[in-house]
Amino acid sequence: MSDIEIPESHPRYESLLTRHRIEDGVEKGITSKQGLIAQGRGEAFDYLLGEKTTESADAAERAAAAHFLLAEHPVISVNGNVAALCPGELVELAEVVGADLEVNLFNRTPERMQAIVDHLREHGAEEVKGLTADGRIPGLDHERAKVDADGIGDADVVLVPLEDGDRAEALSEMGKIELVIDLNPLSRSAQCATVPIVDNVIRAVPNITRHARELKGASREELEAIVDGFDREAALAAAERAIRDGDT
Ligand code: ATP
Ligand code: MG
Repeated sequence: MSDIEIPESHPRYESLLTRHRIEDGVEKGITSKQGLIAQGRGEAFDYLLGEKTTESADAAERAAAAHFLLAEHPVISVNGNVAALCPGELVELAEVVGADLEVNLFNRTPERMQAIVDHLREHGAEEVKGLTADGRIPGLDHERAKVDADGIGDADVVLVPLEDGDRAEALSEMGKIELVIDLNPLSRSAQCATVPIVDNVIRAVPNITRHARELKGASREELEAIVDGFDREAALAAAERAIRDGDT
């Protein structure tokens, strides 16, 4: 991974490690410089959440797992931050729920697209979509509208960790079931999600995988009951309370 050494006893060990992963991502051409700013914004929210998965985030992660297992064609959208932070975990989730991985960038350049595809392959991914870009999300400008027609274009369920607000809204207008991971419950991405997951991607992705493994034997009825029992407004309100009042 990185050649830096942080003693595990350091009280900010996890947070420092995360920063180094993002820094490494920028050096490898995977993460954009804008990604550093997004990371900083996320860290502030995570700090206020006590850097842990709240009960309501865990329930959202379970609902996301149920959506994945009910989906006909689930896709995991990958950007430069998540590729740097948890590539192996994304590949594992995709395997467990039978989802496609598709690279989708806000600051799209051919070099970064390719670097992320290669990075995911190094972490065990076989097929990675995103380079064909023969589909469009209606309502967005040309560069940001690009998706693979047989990937996100065709998906019924899309996991978008750290998606930009505009694109998250456009995807939800296309009628997709959108699972959004974003540490800011006030972010437009979280606000328009079918399932807003207010948690750090580093914790959220492996926890969705864990729930999916547990739910693999469940019937459609059981999965639908989990999906129906999830209340997005309550989840957003609980996350905001946790941040404002420390009520975790
Ligand atoms: P809006 O959604 O309100 O339009 P934005 O999407 O333009 O705002 P950015 O700061 O660009 O705002 O988006 C980055 C988002 O990603 C922030 O909401 C931040 O909390 C979130 N974020 C950053 N790092 C992580 C992480 N590791 N895990 C989860 N969320 C994160
Ligand atoms: Mg946002």
